Amino acid sequence: MSDQQVRVRFAPSPTGKLHVGGARTAIYNWAFARANDGVFILRIDDTDPTRSTDENTQIILRAMRWLGLDWDEGPEVGGDFGPYKQTERLDLYRQAAQKLWDEGRAYPCFCTADELSAIREEQENGGAAITGYFGKWAKCRSLSFEEQKRRIEAGEPYVLRFRSEGDENKRIVFDDLIRGKIEMPENIIDEVLLKSDGVPTYHFAHVCDDHFMRTTHVIRGEEWISSVPKHIALFKACGYRVPKYAHTPQVMKTDETDGTKRKLSKRKDPEASVSYFAQSGYPKEALTEYIMTLLNSNFEDWRRANKTADIFSFPFNLKKMSVSGCLFDLAKLNDISKNVISVMTADEVYERTLEWAKEYDDEYYTVLSENESKAKLMMNLDRGGK
Ligand code: GLU
Repeated sequence: MSDQQVRVRFAPSPTGKLHVGGARTAIYNWAFARANDGVFILRIDDTDPTRSTDENTQIILRAMRWLGLDWDEGPEVGGDFGPYKQTERLDLYRQAAQKLWDEGRAYPCFCTADELSAIREEQENGGAAITGYFGKWAKCRSLSFEEQKRRIEAGEPYVLRFRSEGDENKRIVFDDLIRGKIEMPENIIDEVLLKSDGVPTYHFAHVCDDHFMRTTHVIRGEEWISSVPKHIALFKACGYRVPKYAHTPQVMKTDETDGTKRKLSKRKDPEASVSYFAQSGYPKEALTEYIMTLLNSNFEDWRRANKTADIFSFPFNLKKMSVSGCLFDLAKLNDISKNVISVMTADEVYERTLEWAKEYDDEYYTVLSENESKAKLMMNLDRGGK
């Protein structure tokens, strides 16, 4: 593997189904890997044990397969940098955290949940611009070695915190491949690295993963932009190379009730989950194709000129991506679906419908399989058949 090879990852947390926004991030990563002869990694970010389930992981893998997003490394396919599930990588995080601790870049914090909420309350009441564990609030930061040792040996629970060296008057600048230069204040918070049960926080785990999995580009949703200063500080403290970043805009929809634009919501919108389209019988190509149109402004022109080309031969370019949130347009997706189905042969329509019915509609499945030739004749109407 050359040092330059593009390695990207899609890292869903299995706390729910695959959301359309998640699918879009997955497709971006996948298309970027394919366009650059790179490697597409699927990683399961399951460090939140209360909300992650194996069932959701299976639903996500299934939705990814349904969409035709094959991963080169990850669950069920393996790879040289696995395991690809965070809960199977706990030793690695603990070793990385221990190294930071040995180097004085991490420290044990014994503050209880009550003490932490008292700090937060005091900060909020005082109108603090930044809330969290830092500066004068970070009282465990200055405990002596003897005291740390005594309290640990006495069995007091503790978390391991990052010893931030950030300065609130300084700014960091990073180059986002979609948005250009972004400037933000340095991180000054002493973030938790390992919780009291030794499980890492997401912030810390993903930094270790992206380093050890040799991720070159982090392409993910824009909700992560505000965490970048924290992530860069962690990469640097660990001595890891900072990956390149690309933060994708949110998927929006027009609310039917009042016509306003809002974020596509997992809770309110059935069409927010990929499985909705699988269940409703959309051809998967239509969804990927549609998402590609949201992705690059020149995709539609390319498609018109390359009607039957494989989607992964599209010369994907992060710079051509829109920065503002894009609107999920069901009518357009329906239109694309219609086009996709119209170029299929009757045999293909039959096979695909049968496959769908087998999973979602027993009665229809029986009718279709018992009347194959009749069904195909009907499906061939206007496709060359009389
Ligand atoms: N597990 C995170 C999520 O589900 C991934 C964030 C990232 O890609 O770094 O949003």
